[in-house]
Amino acid sequence: MFKKAINQELMRNNNKAQILRCVKAKQVVSKRELTEELGLSTTTVSTFIRELEEENLIQNSGVARSTGGRRSLLYQLKPDYCYTLGLDLKVDRVVGVLLDFKGDIKAEKEVTFLERDEWKVIPLLKTFIHNLLAEYEIAWSKRGGSGIGIPGVVNNEAESSDFAPNLGWKNVDLPAMLALDKPIYLENEANAGALGEVVFGLGKNVGHLAYISVGMGIGCGLIIDHKLFSGHLRNAGEFGHMTVEPEGFPCRCGNRGCWEVYASNSATLRMYAEATNNEQITFPEFLRKCQENDYHATEVLRTVTKYLGLGIASVINALNPEMVVIGGEITNVKSLIFNSLLKEIKERTLEKSFSGVRLDFSQLGNRAAALGMGTIVLEKIINALS
Ligand SMILES: [Zn+2]
Repeated sequence: MFKKAINQELMRNNNKAQILRCVKAKQVVSKRELTEELGLSTTTVSTFIRELEEENLIQNSGVARSTGGRRSLLYQLKPDYCYTLGLDLKVDRVVGVLLDFKGDIKAEKEVTFLERDEWKVIPLLKTFIHNLLAEYEIAWSKRGGSGIGIPGVVNNEAESSDFAPNLGWKNVDLPAMLALDKPIYLENEANAGALGEVVFGLGKNVGHLAYISVGMGIGCGLIIDHKLFSGHLRNAGEFGHMTVEPEGFPCRCGNRGCWEVYASNSATLRMYAEATNNEQITFPEFLRKCQENDYHATEVLRTVTKYLGLGIASVINALNPEMVVIGGEITNVKSLIFNSLLKEIKERTLEKSFSGVRLDFSQLGNRAAALGMGTIVLEKIINALS
């Protein structure tokens, strides 16, 4: 008898969670669609819709166009149930977005840092979060949680940053140091970027996507079968450290000749300095020189494109993705490198894999990872409600 009661309760919660998830997935949905989609009775759907409305999780959003018979009310998630913050902690800046409960972008913000040490960066991060909410006049209590993308490895259990070499951080317990009263989730920035692309960017509804994040290093976020692939120890996608030159330059990982030592932004600047003795140039300045047709810059860009292409070819051969999206500042010179990059990739991939893949440059600017983090937090909130 007792067991039966538990089972009934479980089933009840499961039905309610299914309805909530279906409203989220479809954005706007009628009662009729919910009953058809989930195979539940009209009474069950009506009961749970009423409960979800009372809990402020969903709201009415008009009436479905009549197709004969009774008109059906439409429902959507209640945008102001809570808000999530998605942050991307980069080497010299933080990019943040504020999403409402429906997943729509309400605000975005970017601030540059001159500091690298965690005890200096973390208070700045906290102020950033306060300001992002304040600018959109969102009460502190309306915050459902925050997600932070980091350029490094995230600890499997403690959700701390094990190792973020480009930040110079090791074993930094970011959530504990931020000490916010709502949950904080961490994820590798390339993984977050991949999620950002499938939810907000070019990869909408793509089941197999590789997101190549080109920055100081190269990260790779993988969506496999519509899910983020993290690997056994949440360390998957480290293609930046596959060897492309056996006797090549040493890499910060301890290996030599890694892909990111030949195709990242820092690799680009190193090659440019070797050619010109100009060690002061920044990556945006380098890109500007490329656009102005500067001889040395163009030559370096050609070499980097070649390495970028051969690495992406290996990713394609290994994973057979449906889509590859390249993110990072390099997207600003897409028109200069797209054809030669495609040529390089085509020459080095298996015919079948190449013919089935779409390659493009991110259109999310530098927001892909922040948007992905906001999405992760929303998912966690919905999961906790279910
Ligand atoms: Zn390496």
